[in-house]
Amino acid sequence: MEGNKRWVSGDLQHPDRDPNRRQFVAQEQEPFGAILSCIDSRVPPELLFDTGLGDLYVMRTGGEAVGPVVTGSVEYGPMTSDTPLIVVLGHQRCGAVKAAYTSLRDGKPLPGNLQAIVRALQPAYEQAVREGGADPVETMARAQVTLTAADLRSNQDLTPLVRKGALAVVGAYYSLDTGKVEVLAGAPS
Ligand SMILES: [Zn+2]
Repeated sequence: MEGNKRWVSGDLQHPDRDPNRRQFVAQEQEPFGAILSCIDSRVPPELLFDTGLGDLYVMRTGGEAVGPVVTGSVEYGPMTSDTPLIVVLGHQRCGAVKAAYTSLRDGKPLPGNLQAIVRALQPAYEQAVREGGADPVETMARAQVTLTAADLRSNQDLTPLVRKGALAVVGAYYSLDTGKVEVLAGAPS
C-alpha cells in the first residue's frame, strides 16, 4: 500500500530493479505477496504497487476469473514458501466483467474460450443482480473481488494458514482514474 501511495503521487522508488537485485534473487525467491489481477493492460501489479524483481507472484486472468490451474498458482507461494499475503485485485471499467455482465444479462454466450470467463464470473453476476446499484458492472467487478477472496480464504488448502494467522487474503479494487488501490475485504488487523 505504501508503494501504491507512491504510484498515486508519482514519487516512485522503482525498488529492486537493478543488477544487484537480479543476482540476489537469482538462486532463490521470497516474494512478500501473491496477486491475482486482471489481464487489463492498465493494471500491472508491479507498477501500481511500485515493486520490483522477486517481490510478487503475479497471476492475471480476464476479470480475475479462477479455475483449478489459477487457484493452484495463487496457492503456490503460501503453500510452499510461507508467502503471507494474497491480494485479489479488481479494477474500474473492467472489460471482462462488462462483457460477462452483458452476455449473462442477454443470454448470449461469448465465442470460444471467452465463454469460460463468463462462466467463472457468473456468481459475481448473480450477486450484482441481487445488490443492484447505480452501475451494475461496477457492482459486479467488486463482487468478483470479494467472492474470489472469500473462496480462497475458505478453501481447504488455505483455511489452515488463515486460521493460524500466517496468511491474509485481501480483496482490493483499483481506480483507473486515480491510481489508488482501495481495500475491500480481509485487511490484516
Ligand atoms: Zn479487467
